[in-house]
Amino acid sequence: MNLLIKGITAVLPDGTGYVVRDADVYIGGGVILSLGDVPEGFRAEKVIDGSGRLLVQGLVNAHTHAYMSLLRGRADDLSFDDWLFRNIIPMEDKLEPDDFYWGTLLSVCEMIRSGTTSYLDMHMMPEKCALAAGESGLRAVLSRGLVGESRGDEGGLRRLREAKADIAQFKDYDRLGFMLAPHAPYSCSPDFIEAVTEAAAELNVGINIHLSESAREVRGSIVRYGLTPVALMEKAGLFDLPCTAAHCVRLTDSDMNILRNRNVRVVTCPASNMKLGNGFAPVPELLKKGVTVALGTDGAASNNSLNMFRELSLLTLIHKGSHRDPTCVTACEGLKTASVNGAKALGLEKTGEIRAGFNADLVILRLDSPAMNPRADMISALCYSGCSSSVETVIVGGDIVMENGEIKTVDEERVIFEANRIALRLG
Ligand SMILES: [Zn+2]
Repeated sequence: MNLLIKGITAVLPDGTGYVVRDADVYIGGGVILSLGDVPEGFRAEKVIDGSGRLLVQGLVNAHTHAYMSLLRGRADDLSFDDWLFRNIIPMEDKLEPDDFYWGTLLSVCEMIRSGTTSYLDMHMMPEKCALAAGESGLRAVLSRGLVGESRGDEGGLRRLREAKADIAQFKDYDRLGFMLAPHAPYSCSPDFIEAVTEAAAELNVGINIHLSESAREVRGSIVRYGLTPVALMEKAGLFDLPCTAAHCVRLTDSDMNILRNRNVRVVTCPASNMKLGNGFAPVPELLKKGVTVALGTDGAASNNSLNMFRELSLLTLIHKGSHRDPTCVTACEGLKTASVNGAKALGLEKTGEIRAGFNADLVILRLDSPAMNPRADMISALCYSGCSSSVETVIVGGDIVMENGEIKTVDEERVIFEANRIALRLG
């Protein structure tokens, strides 16, 4: 569809930062064709009046477990072990295959409403999570979580087969991509990691992993292998492929150098790290070293929100506090982390900026809420003022997935009904 967004105030890339100026945005074939001049032969099939609105690039949630929204609010204020092993895993065992479909769609609705246009999912149910992602209209990179105690571990090999089957079944879906996801160094043996890496190389897909999330993980790795989790994964060959690593909270200087030298994309998840008491990732240090840092919410069981504007706000505030330095992680750095860097973490090209030739993944916000005014600095407003309630229309690949607050791709009322039905069954 040829779409024209007329006379809108837009956040545009400018050198290493952003500039905010008025633009007419011409969209065709799923991409941004022009930000000013009418493209030759262009006829708009739909025109959106941009007056009193702000156009922002769609946000990229670079680490989540979308099905987990079903478990939102189920296990709060607990230690990591109590949270995971005594609450989350036993509840996951009660989930039926279709529950994963509805849980993923619940997340999809929340993500669309808060301006997310792409997400990287680590899930645990073949077919269902991909079906939901395919229907959502969002761009999604899917990775089935893999755990294995050895290269020949039967359960591990079954999960790997499921991951491969999903890739074969959904490879022709335009907006879906795939990675392989060894869950974490503490849940996968080094030789199982090697087997997954070999499979990923064969399939020509990248890697998605949890890495150095807690002090306990690092201690365990050093006791068992004599190496930090980062050094261990490098030795296992994981970084020979494009790798996206979530958390990276506990890092040595040498770990950070490995991540930079091997071009590992780090996904920081501030709310999850705080909620589970794991601390603060060294984001200012990673940025200083030139590591690509993206932003994720993690699953709703450990956040409990999938609102990337809230996450962006946390990201741009917490390091100022923890470092006692108000210049840490600026609004501009934060917005890049939540958009263009997220696109890199998902392996998406020409995504995450409002630029001619880039995917038309766009969010339109109303500018009439008090929190968005006066209109002094829009980048600051996006990071610090809390503006997800101003999200009005969301566009992915030139298609409107939400218009004037109404989600077009998913029956939101039904999804909320089904999520509550499942919650009742879980008890
Ligand atoms: Zn996670």
